[in-house]
Amino acid sequence: MARKSPSRSLAVQDNGAPAHFVTALAPEDRRLNFGTKWDYAPAPETAPVKIQPRYELFIDGKFVTPHSGKYFDSINPANEKKLTEIAQGDAHDVDRAVKAARRAYEKTWSKMPARERGKYIYRIARIIQEKSRELAILETMDGGKTIKESRDVDLPLVATHFFYHAGWTDKLDYAFPGRKPRPLGVCGQIIPWNFPLLMAAWKLAPALACGNTVVLKPAETTSITAMHLAQILQEAGLPDGVVNIVTGAGETGRAIVEHDDIDKIAFTGSTDVGKIIAKALVGTKKKLTLELGGKAANILMEDAPIDQAVEGIISGIYFNQGHVCCAGSRLLVQESIFPTVIRKLRDRITVLRVGDPLDKNSDIGAINSKMQLDRIHELVESGVSEGAELVQPRCKLPERGYWYPPSFFTGVTATHRIAQEEIFGPVLSVMTFRTPEEAIERANNTPYGLSAGVWTDKGSKIFKIANKLRAGVVWANTYNKFDPTSPFGGYKESGFGREGGLHGLAAYSQFA
Ligand code: NAD
Ligand code: MN
Repeated sequence: MARKSPSRSLAVQDNGAPAHFVTALAPEDRRLNFGTKWDYAPAPETAPVKIQPRYELFIDGKFVTPHSGKYFDSINPANEKKLTEIAQGDAHDVDRAVKAARRAYEKTWSKMPARERGKYIYRIARIIQEKSRELAILETMDGGKTIKESRDVDLPLVATHFFYHAGWTDKLDYAFPGRKPRPLGVCGQIIPWNFPLLMAAWKLAPALACGNTVVLKPAETTSITAMHLAQILQEAGLPDGVVNIVTGAGETGRAIVEHDDIDKIAFTGSTDVGKIIAKALVGTKKKLTLELGGKAANILMEDAPIDQAVEGIISGIYFNQGHVCCAGSRLLVQESIFPTVIRKLRDRITVLRVGDPLDKNSDIGAINSKMQLDRIHELVESGVSEGAELVQPRCKLPERGYWYPPSFFTGVTATHRIAQEEIFGPVLSVMTFRTPEEAIERANNTPYGLSAGVWTDKGSKIFKIANKLRAGVVWANTYNKFDPTSPFGGYKESGFGREGGLHGLAAYSQFA
């Protein structure tokens, strides 16, 4: 049985034809291929995974009960079933964790020869590789992302990040010749739910490589893989207190931010919380890096290979449910190819498979939480009421769980909320432009500046346009490609500081 997605009634009439449709298309082109999609046999990913009934805090190398004695549920957003209970850490636990991190910093980690530190990080990377099937399944169950994504993107990148940084550990003097890099001390790291293990890897690997110790807080909806990572750290024999993991929600994060024996805060999450953190740190000695939201534009020039571009655009926004801060959530199409692009986009989203994230054939999994789903509905409804046209296939959505079909808007103007605010769901806002200058101006016209994409056959255009885009990452003729050697981070309200590459190492070092 398909549950009606509440906002679908806005978009699709009873006869299956979309109520709002692209006026640029001839009537015979407006038909969507609903119902022509065949069903595949279910192909669930299988590997034995053990989820504990309850996860404790990881402090000073041990699993310990939280001071509050309280636990909260982590559910599987694909079926709303409770998976386990997660310890609710409070300021008392954060203090314990910071003390352990400080001791470990002073007694062991900063004293140890760098090549010894490197051995631990290599060991962590190798154990992650060995357990990557199991970790991918856990990531998918707890967070809702497709197994295709967690198995083929997240986990390989997680291991790569540890390997890459392990390699730098005893070569920091070469990374920064003549500058005598030293660690900062104890780092507080707060991460979001969209790439739970990958964000943990982005934060932990460079911090450890540079000789820091850490108190990490995962997001409250996706803490399971962080606690399995804690087991891996134990297995790797990482000295006690070098990494401490304190689970909990915003209050727990606040306790980390406000703890006065922390030398650096690294935060990835929403711009709203980023602003709160930035204010809280004014006048303290704490260093800060912020990775916040985004509203990336993909600029599609008329000379681009259109089929490849459409495929890249599709993967840049729909795979991963749009739960990517650098998702290509705006598409700027050169006017001459607009009807063709829209037709191809529409045909393609009708055959995307939304469903069981553990099924290897699913392209789009579950939305991470009820809160996030409500936010998507709210923003899509604002788009409709502000006059944009919604295109949304009539696809069967599972009965239970949080789901949103792949959708796009045409007729979007720069002032619409859907052109300015992060939807963080599988919803694309399409706009047009005539000249490259207009494309650049439109692309830069949001408060964010995390990433962007350019699609064109001409190398010279890539350089010309990329240079004028106010975005930390610009992909050309590809999208959402990550590599630990490449710094990642934002302009404007997308935050400051870089993760990855030499820039990322510098952010965890101080210099003589
Ligand atoms: P959020 O900012 O509410 O939460 C992120 C993390 O911060 C969580 O661990 C949360 O518990 C913690 N937190 C919440 N309030 C806090 C406070 N006052 N002090 C300290 N920590 C606090 O974000 P969310 O709603 O969970 O995630 C969705 C948003 O995150 C997206 O809309 C997107 O903008 C952003 N995001 C950005 C990136 C990036 O790399 N730039 C990546 C993922 C998500
Ligand atoms: Mn969960």
